[in-house]
Amino acid sequence: MAANCHTHCCQGGAELVSAVHIVAPLTSLEFHPWHVPADFRQLPAEYLELAPRAAALGECGLDRLRGATLPIQMRAFECVVEVAEKLHKPLVIHSVRCDSEIGALLKHVSCKVLIHGFSHAPRRLDALLEQGFFVSLAPYAWQKKEVAEYLKKNDFSRIGFETDDTGLAIDSLVGAAARELEIPDLDARSVAVLEAFLAK
Ligand SMILES: [Zn+2]
Repeated sequence: MAANCHTHCCQGGAELVSAVHIVAPLTSLEFHPWHVPADFRQLPAEYLELAPRAAALGECGLDRLRGATLPIQMRAFECVVEVAEKLHKPLVIHSVRCDSEIGALLKHVSCKVLIHGFSHAPRRLDALLEQGFFVSLAPYAWQKKEVAEYLKKNDFSRIGFETDDTGLAIDSLVGAAARELEIPDLDARSVAVLEAFLAK
């Protein structure tokens, strides 16, 4: 059975569910950059109350193309990172054209970081792994030839899979990747990645 590093709906397997409430044993408490209010000042009391019970925090992060202005998103993101540091929780990150801002902000942070929804440019994947981050691949990202070439040479110790909000089944998704990349034990590797990301 494969593991899902990022989904928004519970399918009952090995999955990290991103939600605004604790909905599954492995819930990542979401504060999505798209939904940061324009007048953001601090995290809601409810978020701080739920955070200790979450398996991870996020998705959170920065999006240059959508949502509140970048300085406002940045403030909200900093608040989530602060909580993650205090509670030693791993972070699930949404980054749209903000890798350098996120890299700078997380440079001295000790918690584990997973960048979700990677879809193209092996150079970007390389840079993210180089910073020590985990990366989860957007559905079918490996179908791009240059990404597939890169992945075939990788050991998958920090690269996982996700269905995000597509409603796809993770087992068939990882099965398709395993055939395409000719890596027969990819499902087991995907489980090891999620476990490593969540390990205390
Ligand atoms: Zn998502």
